[in-house]
Amino acid sequence: MAPFGRPFPVVCVDGEFVPETTAAVSVHANALSYGTGTFEGIRATWNQERADLFLLEPLAHYARLGQSSRVLGLALPFSPEALVRLTIELLRRNEVRADTYVRPLFALAGDGLPVGMHEARPRLSIAATPIAGQYINLKGVRCIVSPWRRAPDEALPSRAKLCGSYVGPAMAKTEAVRSGFDEAIMLNVAGHVAEATTSNVFLRRGRQWLTPPGTDDILEGITRAQAMTLLGERTGRPVVERSIDRTELYACDEIFLCGTAALVAPVTEVDHRSVGAGQPGETTVWLLDTLRAIAGRRGGGHQDWTAPVYGAGTDGGGA
Ligand code: PMP
Repeated sequence: MAPFGRPFPVVCVDGEFVPETTAAVSVHANALSYGTGTFEGIRATWNQERADLFLLEPLAHYARLGQSSRVLGLALPFSPEALVRLTIELLRRNEVRADTYVRPLFALAGDGLPVGMHEARPRLSIAATPIAGQYINLKGVRCIVSPWRRAPDEALPSRAKLCGSYVGPAMAKTEAVRSGFDEAIMLNVAGHVAEATTSNVFLRRGRQWLTPPGTDDILEGITRAQAMTLLGERTGRPVVERSIDRTELYACDEIFLCGTAALVAPVTEVDHRSVGAGQPGETTVWLLDTLRAIAGRRGGGHQDWTAPVYGAGTDGGGA
């Protein structure tokens, strides 16, 4: 089964709700050729007992969309708060009652041909696609360090989530899968560990959790910030942000990847070397369980990280 299901039929384009079939872009679209746009991925988790759907940190995602837009020199036409309201309305109109990936996209969708951000009019769309249950990985991910490097910030802004930035990671991922691995870890051009193709990397050496800093050409993940908070609470020691050498991936005791769709994925092997005992680490499994609970408001605290879709207005937490 594919990790994502059929997209929901109603989408939001520039604040209007329209059928997806009428929201197509032309083959001439500037963004299609040049990757001129920015996007987000926001998790919505269905809670059957509460009969509600919960968005995980939607405001943080829309704040990052605003930040990515500023990096491109574009201004988002809606505030982050207004975008959360539009997202809630979109999920209600589609009557979404399943774990879902919300996909905001702010891109040069018009036919303007010149390369440049200054002429074409960007379009803001929000769409949603179900996430199949097995997207959560409990058994562990086998990784290879990719020969493809993560583009340096001075070539392609790393902390902006840009459409065109995913070509290198897409090649790295495909080559990893074709070589029999699940995922690729990318180094930056300085040779430090940056991130996996669509997730951030954490590793434990002894009692200390480490993750690459925002200045090592990573996307500053929202799940990464959540993981730093939760690990700090559990261990009583702050996660250390510092440059990480490739060989630390081999020498460490535990590794996980984290991102919006999968939340937390244990890494059990890197470059044919097993990580720790070759099984998902205890803290990693705890973190995945805790984040899953938080995402669906099934416990784990941090209720203010989630915003209800159907209960919105009665309990406005978290947006
Ligand atoms: N790095 C990259 C390149 C990504 O695409 C993602 C997914 N958005 C992440 C890291 C993880 O970020 P987040 O936790 O905000 O989803």
